[in-house]
Amino acid sequence: MKIAIIGAGFGGMAAAFDLQKAGHQVTIFESADYVGGLASGFKEPHWDWSVEKFYHHWFQTDKPMLDLIRDLGWDDQVLFPRPMTVMYHDGQFYPFDSVLKALLFPGLGFGLDKIRFGFVGLFLRLTNNWKTLEKVTADSWMMKWAGKNVYEKMWKPLLVGKFGPYYKDVNMAWMWARIKARTTRLGTFQGGFQRFADMFAERLRLMGVEIRLQARVKFIKREPAKGWLIDADWIESFDKILVTTSPNLMAKICPDLPDGYLRGLLNLKSMGAVVMVLSLKQQLSEQGYYWFNLPKEEGYPFLALVEHTNFVSSENFGGDHIVYAGDYLQEGHEYFSMGDKELLERFLPALKKFNPGFDKNWVKKVWVFKTNYAQPVPLLNHSKNIPSIETPIEGLYFASMSQVYPWDRGTNFAVEIGRRAARLMLK
Ligand SMILES: Cc1cc2nc3c(=O)[nH]c(=O)nc-3n(C[C@H](O)[C@H](O)[C@H](O)COP(=O)(O)OP(=O)(O)OC[C@H]3O[C@@H](n4cnc5c(N)ncnc54)[C@H](O)[C@@H]3O)c2cc1C
Repeated sequence: MKIAIIGAGFGGMAAAFDLQKAGHQVTIFESADYVGGLASGFKEPHWDWSVEKFYHHWFQTDKPMLDLIRDLGWDDQVLFPRPMTVMYHDGQFYPFDSVLKALLFPGLGFGLDKIRFGFVGLFLRLTNNWKTLEKVTADSWMMKWAGKNVYEKMWKPLLVGKFGPYYKDVNMAWMWARIKARTTRLGTFQGGFQRFADMFAERLRLMGVEIRLQARVKFIKREPAKGWLIDADWIESFDKILVTTSPNLMAKICPDLPDGYLRGLLNLKSMGAVVMVLSLKQQLSEQGYYWFNLPKEEGYPFLALVEHTNFVSSENFGGDHIVYAGDYLQEGHEYFSMGDKELLERFLPALKKFNPGFDKNWVKKVWVFKTNYAQPVPLLNHSKNIPSIETPIEGLYFASMSQVYPWDRGTNFAVEIGRRAARLMLK
């Protein structure tokens, strides 16, 4: 079969790997001039490693990703350090990445709240019954079982930060999946995610996959006699197509999809993201903290501050210290239209809160990355709203971040759904 895949992110590449291995002729169309999609990275000339445009790490539970890396023979290149995650309380940050640290966290006092927090966490780690949890909102479930104090202190800031105006509507299965998958050790690839994506693309090319960069697909259409036609400045025909873009884009490039499926795609909600990457002359968190969870109501101009070089060594970046400041936002938020300089002015004063000695002269260089498709929003009974991978039109398949539910989006689940789509296409 002649198969086309739209998108050279981890989902598209994982599908291509299995389809080409099964003896088919695979062509990947990628609009960007690089592979890796949302997990791609960039590199300064004096850096040995690349840095992801949007902060990325794996969990030790990311089995589909770790299995793929094993299939490729690169498991010796995966690192799982143990960086420190911290929570905010009363103007200070406290480590919060183990049972002991959670017990010592002063934000919940040392009485009933801490016990409720512990029991709720334990229950969510042990249960697999997410189908019941998707029938209630995280907001109401947490208020009931964790209690107002624990919820408002620990979980609400996360929901507000990730989902903004939708925070009260997100279902509890999302929270379950998040807690279930987390591990204390976090993973990355030697050299960064972009190196991994480039190596993967090179392997695919050696296997015979054709990867066309700067090939934006504008339109796909099924013609009874010719099969599937793809318009990417020129027209070409294929037997089957897998699309791995956002649901909105899928609806746009294939308007012939039946009404019900099209409506399903367009009804899905998601948040965008704006992330600033700064290279600094000095370490920002002298305590060596990697991930700062920030409550928006304390006036931080972003949701998360992530010091990448407290996760992997700054030696990989010629001694530069790499810091991310990021936020999940609805389309139309002012950050999407602000210039990099203006955004830097908005973000810079907050950096003093992580190190009072911080000075703007520490900043060597700044990059800003924006995407309007960063985080799907799962509402009540969301499993009923997930578009099927096999679309109603024969030979057309769709696999995106919005379909990995109940799991939260991630490269691990992009690989899982990409390989699942390949199995369906081979059926
Ligand atoms: C802020 C942020 C933080 C994240 N953190 C993590 C993390 O810590 N760990 C983790 O594992 N994951 C994380 N993720 C999620 C992860 O990046 C995604 O789940 C994953 O990369 C999705 O892969 P994909 O192949 O499904 O889609 P994408 O990577 O989006 O790939 C789709 C590809 O299609 C291409 N494309 C789009 N339109 C067209 C067209 N018309 N023609 C041709 N090509 C087209 C795009 O350029 C893109 O390359 C994060 C994402 C964001 C935004």
